Amino acid sequence: MDKTNVLQGGEFLVKDVDAQDVFIPEEFDEEQQMIAQTCEDFLETEVFPVLDRIDQQEEGLMRELIGKAGELGLLGISVPEEYEGFGQSFVTSMLASEAMGAGHSFSVAYSAHTGIGSLPLVYYGNEEQKQRYLPKLATGEWAAAYCLTEPNAGSDANSGKTNAVLSEDGKHYILNGQKMWITNGGFADLLTVFAKIDNDRVYSAFLVEASWEGVVRNPEEKKMGIKGSSTVQLFFNDVKVPVENLLARRGQGFRIALNILHMGRIKLGAAVLGSAKRTITQSVNYANERKQFGTQISNFAAIKYKLAQQAMRTWVTESAVYRISADIDKTKEIMMADGKDKETATIEAIAQYAVEDAAMKVFGSETLDYVVDEGVQIFGGMGFSAEMPVDRAYRDSRINRIFEGTNEINRLLISETLIKKGPKVGINFKEEYAKILEELNDFNPGYDGDDYFGELKFYAKKFKKLALYVMGAFLEKIPKGFVHEQEIMSALSDILIGVYAVESAVLRSEKIAKTKGDDQAAYQKAMTENYLYDTSFRLRKSAYDAANSFLQGDELKTALAAIDKLSSFKPVNIREIHRFVADKIIDENKYCF
Ligand SMILES: Cc1cc2nc3c(=O)[nH]c(=O)nc-3n(C[C@H](O)[C@H](O)[C@H](O)COP(=O)(O)OP(=O)(O)OC[C@H]3O[C@@H](n4cnc5c(N)ncnc54)[C@H](O)[C@@H]3O)c2cc1C
Repeated sequence: MDKTNVLQGGEFLVKDVDAQDVFIPEEFDEEQQMIAQTCEDFLETEVFPVLDRIDQQEEGLMRELIGKAGELGLLGISVPEEYEGFGQSFVTSMLASEAMGAGHSFSVAYSAHTGIGSLPLVYYGNEEQKQRYLPKLATGEWAAAYCLTEPNAGSDANSGKTNAVLSEDGKHYILNGQKMWITNGGFADLLTVFAKIDNDRVYSAFLVEASWEGVVRNPEEKKMGIKGSSTVQLFFNDVKVPVENLLARRGQGFRIALNILHMGRIKLGAAVLGSAKRTITQSVNYANERKQFGTQISNFAAIKYKLAQQAMRTWVTESAVYRISADIDKTKEIMMADGKDKETATIEAIAQYAVEDAAMKVFGSETLDYVVDEGVQIFGGMGFSAEMPVDRAYRDSRINRIFEGTNEINRLLISETLIKKGPKVGINFKEEYAKILEELNDFNPGYDGDDYFGELKFYAKKFKKLALYVMGAFLEKIPKGFVHEQEIMSALSDILIGVYAVESAVLRSEKIAKTKGDDQAAYQKAMTENYLYDTSFRLRKSAYDAANSFLQGDELKTALAAIDKLSSFKPVNIREIHRFVADKIIDENKYCF
C-alpha cells in the first residue's frame, strides 16, 4: 500500500487527491454486491412485511429477527472468521449498513447489535473473552447492547456515576448504577457497560451478562420514532462481574467508548443512505401515480425539483461516505503492514478519521431529514397519514441527529479536533492563512482553463481556501478559548463538511467519466455542478456568520470581500439540471444513481 495515496485524517483540507486514488461505490465487486443483496432480500422478506408488528413491539419479534439475520451470517460481517464471522473489510461492512439502513426500527437494532454492541469486544476483547462471546453474537444466539448514557450523563458521557468496586476476594467487580436509553436493552444478552472503578476519573468497560443477578430492565420507553426498537433503562444492583470480564485495562473504557462512537458515527452515515434511497423511491412511486390538474404530479417542476434535490444530496453523501470508508481500509492496511493486528488497526484507523467520521454523521443525518421531509411533502395530505410509508420514515429519521453524539456535539468536535490535530498532520493554520492573504492580493475567483473537471476541482480547492481563510482569521483573533465560541466553531464545521462533500462528488464524477466515458457520467456531472452551486451559497452564509461574529469595521469589510471571492461559483441553470435529474428518476420510477 502506497502511503502517499492516502490522506490522513483532516488532511483533505490542505492536500488534493487524484480521482483514481479515491474509491467510488461503482467499484464494489460482485461479492460485496451479493452481501448487500442478501441484506436487501432479508429486509424484503423478513422485515418489510412486519413493520407494523415491529413498531407495536410484538413480544419476541425483534429478537427473532436478529436471530434470523444471524442464521444468514448477516451479524458476523465485521467479526473475524475464527469466531464464526466473515471478517469483511470496513467498506463492505458499510455497504451492509447501508442496505440494512432501510429497515427502520430493525435497522437500529441491527446497527446496535453489530456495531456499538459487538465491536467493543471485537476490537478490545482478549482471546478468552472473544472465544466465549463472539461466536454467540456473530450467529445471533445472543444479542448485544452498549451501555454508556446515564440520566445525568448524556453528551457529557464521562460524567457517569456507575461504579465498580473490587470484591474482597479479588474475584469480582461489584457493579452499581443506572444506564439510560439503551438500544436492544429489553432483550440483549451481553451488555458492554461503562463504569468507574473506585474513584477513577475515567471509565473502565465491562462485559456484563444480562442474566446475572442484579441486572434489572425497566419497561420500554415510548418514543416519537423507531418505535419498534427496544430502548430501556437498565439498573445494576450489586452485580457481580468476574474480573476476567473487564474489557481491555482499567481506565481504558472512555477511550473505548469514544472510539466505538467514531465507528458508530461513520456507520450511521452509511445507514441513512439505505433509508434515503428507499424514501426517494417511495416518493417517485407516489408522484408517478397521483394525479392533480389532470396529470401526474411528477410532471410538475416543483415536484421534480424536490426529487432531484433528494437524489443529489443522497448521491453526494454516498460519495463522501464511501470515499472515507475506503480510506479507513487503506490506512488499516498500512497499519497492519507496520505490525498491528487487524482489529487494532481497524479501530485506530477509524479513530484517526475522527473529523471525517463526525462529518459523515452530521451530513448523513441531515441529508436523510431533508429527504424524508420532502418525501412527506410530495405525498401531500397523504404524507401526513399514518397509513403511508413516509410517515414512518419521517418519524424514524429524527433520532439520527440525536444519538451517536448529537449533531451539536459532533459539529463542535469537527472544528475543535481539526484545529488541535491539524498541526500533527502538517496543517499550519497561521501559514495557510498568510499564504491565502498573499494570494488574495491578485486573485481571480473564476476559472480560466478549458478542462471540465479542472474547473470543478478549481472551485472545490477554492472552497478549501475559504475554510482555511476563515479558520486562520478566527484563530488569529481568538487564539485561546476558541472552543467556547460555539456559533463560530459550528459554522466552521459546516464549511468543513461542505468542502469534504463537494470534493468527494467532484472526484467521483470525474472517476466515472474517466472510466466509463463522459456520456455515462452526464447525471453525475449535473448533480455535482448543482451541488457545488448550492454549497457555494451555504459556505458563504457560514463564513459570513463566522466573520460577522469576530470581526468589525474595516477588518470585517475586507474579510467579507475575501469570502465573496473564495465562495463564488459559476452560474448554473438550476431549472435545467433539476428537470434533467428528476426525469431520470421519474422514468425509472426509483432512485437510480
Ligand atoms: C432512541 C435512543 C437510543 C439510544 N441508544 C443508546 C445506546 O444504545 N447506548 C447509549 O449509551 N446511549 C444511547 N442513547 C443516548 C444518546 O446517545 C443520548 O441521548 C445523546 O448522546 C444525547 O444525550 P442526552 O439525551 O442526555 O442530551 P443532552 O446531553 O442533555 O443534550 C441536550 C441538548 O443540549 C445540547 N448540548 C449538550 N451539551 C452541549 C454542549 N457542550 N455544547 C452545546 N450543546 C450541548 C445537545 O446537543 C442537545 O441539543 C440513545 C438515545 C435515544 C433517544
